[in-house]
Amino acid sequence: MRILITGGAGFIGSHLCEFLTQRGDKVIVLDDLSTGKFENIEHIKGVECIIDSTLNQDIVRDLVKDVDMVFHLAATVGVNLVINHPIQTIVNNIQGTETVLEETCRYRRPLLITSTSEVYGKSTKEVFEEEDDQIIGPPHRHRWCYAASKAIDEFLALAYWKEKRHPVYIVRLFNIVGPRQTGQYGMVLPNFITQALKGEPLRVFGDGQQTRSFAYVGDIVPPLVQIIERPDLCGTVFNLGNDKSVRIIDLAHKVIELTKSSSIIQLIPYNEAYPEGYEDMRHRVPCLKKIRKAIGYTPQTSLETIIQRVTDYIQKKFRLV
Ligand code: UDP
Repeated sequence: MRILITGGAGFIGSHLCEFLTQRGDKVIVLDDLSTGKFENIEHIKGVECIIDSTLNQDIVRDLVKDVDMVFHLAATVGVNLVINHPIQTIVNNIQGTETVLEETCRYRRPLLITSTSEVYGKSTKEVFEEEDDQIIGPPHRHRWCYAASKAIDEFLALAYWKEKRHPVYIVRLFNIVGPRQTGQYGMVLPNFITQALKGEPLRVFGDGQQTRSFAYVGDIVPPLVQIIERPDLCGTVFNLGNDKSVRIIDLAHKVIELTKSSSIIQLIPYNEAYPEGYEDMRHRVPCLKKIRKAIGYTPQTSLETIIQRVTDYIQKKFRLV
């Protein structure tokens, strides 16, 4: 099959490229290389890369016409980028998705959109179910423009399903981690591991009692493909991640232990860690009942194995031993 991946040169997109080419698909990547990197995909045979934006409707139309299905991963992501570039975030995430929806609908190509656990906002529930309310903070706190833009993407996609029977699928990803994820835009795990390998203090924001559940990228890629190949699941929203959570302070300790680092841990108040406009969520765990029932998904990779694999990757890439 011929498959288009927008944002295919990014961290998750590049793993999806690998998976699809390994089973014999021809993959076309559309990526503006804003956060994605060509080096993430240059080793993969069977991938063609177009460097352009999902905002370029002519390009999107040309590419969509010639493929069998589309994975839409292109988005502005990462807390630092979102807070510092809210216009780019809102325009890319809403207009880019609108364009991809319009063109995939024109040619009736199945479309899977990756959304995010951020859409649940600052709800104090610990475990989020797909039908839960979304509690998003006020517009002057720029962090929330990411959640709001992704929520609009979901509304629009489901509207296309309802009004035009466009085959769309939505998957909300929860803290996906693994090799090729960069810490540059704020993601915690690559930052902790890099700090530990360099013997620098691990910077834990807030009191460190907040929790997250981290899923290995290799566990979540096959389910994306399983979902888009199931016409009976069209118009459905799924959570995808790992339902085991860890306190961020414990994550820091685990990273120090597994990397055998002599680093110490520093608690950094939020107002020093982030520019104005940041609000943190205390807990965020996906309820996986729906996706388990639909495709039999269970996360496989333990946090220890994930830390080990990311450590190996960072050591090799930056020659940190
Ligand atoms: N965090 C941290 N140190 C870092 C980066 C993040 O303590 O260097 C914290 C952050 O405040 C949040 C958690 O780790 O509570 C996860 O942050 P990340 O940006 O990876 O994901 P998200 O907040 O989007 O879940």
